[in-house]
Amino acid sequence: MTETVGVVGAGLVGALAALGLAKKGYSVILYDLRADPRTTKENNFRSINLAVSERGIRALKYVDESMADRVLEGIIPMYGRMIHDLEGNQESQLYGLFGESINSIDRKQLNLSLVEEIERFNKTTEHKISLKFECKVTNVQIKDPVSVEYILNGEKLKDQLDFVVGADGSYSVVRSSLQKQIRMNYSQEYIDMCYLEMYIPPGKKGSFQLNPNRLHIWPRQSYMLIALANQDGSFTSTFFGSWDLVESLDTKDKVESFFVENFVDAVDLIGLNKVVDCFLNNPRGALMQVNCNKYNFEDKCIIIGDAAHSMVPFYGQGMNCGFEDVRILLELLDKHGLNRGKTFDEYSATREKDLKAILELALRNYKEMSSDVTSSLYLFRKKLDGVLGRLIPEKWVPLYTMVSFRSDISYSKAIEQSQKQQKVLKWTEWSVLGAAACGAAFYFSRKK
Ligand SMILES: Cc1cc2nc3c(=O)[nH]c(=O)nc-3n(C[C@H](O)[C@H](O)[C@H](O)COP(=O)(O)OP(=O)(O)OC[C@H]3O[C@@H](n4cnc5c(N)ncnc54)[C@H](O)[C@@H]3O)c2cc1C
Repeated sequence: MTETVGVVGAGLVGALAALGLAKKGYSVILYDLRADPRTTKENNFRSINLAVSERGIRALKYVDESMADRVLEGIIPMYGRMIHDLEGNQESQLYGLFGESINSIDRKQLNLSLVEEIERFNKTTEHKISLKFECKVTNVQIKDPVSVEYILNGEKLKDQLDFVVGADGSYSVVRSSLQKQIRMNYSQEYIDMCYLEMYIPPGKKGSFQLNPNRLHIWPRQSYMLIALANQDGSFTSTFFGSWDLVESLDTKDKVESFFVENFVDAVDLIGLNKVVDCFLNNPRGALMQVNCNKYNFEDKCIIIGDAAHSMVPFYGQGMNCGFEDVRILLELLDKHGLNRGKTFDEYSATREKDLKAILELALRNYKEMSSDVTSSLYLFRKKLDGVLGRLIPEKWVPLYTMVSFRSDISYSKAIEQSQKQQKVLKWTEWSVLGAAACGAAFYFSRKK
């Protein structure tokens, strides 16, 4: 008999998980409290666009190669960062060693495309994915029997299921229900950082006002602005700064002088009045990370995506990592001949170290983006890293490459290998600096 799974959350990760599980032969019910993206224009998404990279793309292809091609249509490759200094000068820093890119994609469009793929799937098969939008899941009963309780059209309802996958984001109800059932280690930490979005309009005839194939960064140490291109020639830029700073800029004059002083070229592109309007009126988001383990109860319930590992956005990996969760889960189901107990237990046991690793990398990357990218020492080390990566690619892989372009290297292995490489880089640096100092000393002693 076909087993039924309830997937809670039809966001990016839940929609992909629903498709993947349905393709494995499960009957799926997908719940989401938001309205159906096919019929609504509402936009309550966290960011307009995001970066999809190798791990995410591999997972999409794993679920369905042709589906991946369709949903990734129109992505804009970003081959590197473009650093904007205080005067508005720009400097390009490539991400990959061999022309690799991360890719800007419209979050809303991606979510809509995944839901449309579900509709397409439903047209071609008998066991369908049942979609329940505007449906608030209030509780999950994890055992005896497994059920999902929810409110739909004002009515309290309950579905009995064989198992539940929680993909309901950072404030997950499924995680809360799971916590009552298992000894879950759990931590939630807000970082003192607020983000808000601004819009850089297209230039003449829909042209891009900045290079679309770069992720633009205005690094200013304790705050920064970034911008990613959209297909229509516009850019979405995001300001990150401490809550104290953002709240202190509470008048038109203060915002104007802060932006003119720090981001003069961005102000030219956005327009000063628009900057003030966005800064004072656009929604402000908090950033937090959630770390927990384990992720399952027997073969009855498992959490994935932000529900299991919400992270700060500085490595552009939250969604990519959530998509990777889906691929790993589906691969384990294959490995264990759809034995869910073994699958879920192995997933919890093996995934923890990688999720911890990416949470740490994401946190660390704020410093790299907001200040290191302007330091000569960082740039020297980065050059050396790149030279070694090109010379001995099978032995030396820069950290960014491992995380963003190499889904065959797990996040924890990436940290491990990069720590070893950092030691070599530091040693080489000291040798080069030592040799330079000796050379200089010799030169000046001869001059005397
Ligand atoms: C500013 C910013 C920029 C980012 N940039 C990137 C990036 O460049 N690359 C990247 O990979 N990641 C990025 N991320 C992270 C990424 O947005 C998340 O990791 C990703 O959205 C997680 O997807 P999810 O499906 O697990 O959760 P969500 O996207 O949060 O989806 C959860 C879904 O569950 C539904 N839900 C919640 N509660 C209930 C309930 N009780 N009942 C029913 N439904 C419910 C919600 O409506 C929602 O649709 C960024 C995040 C932020 C904040």
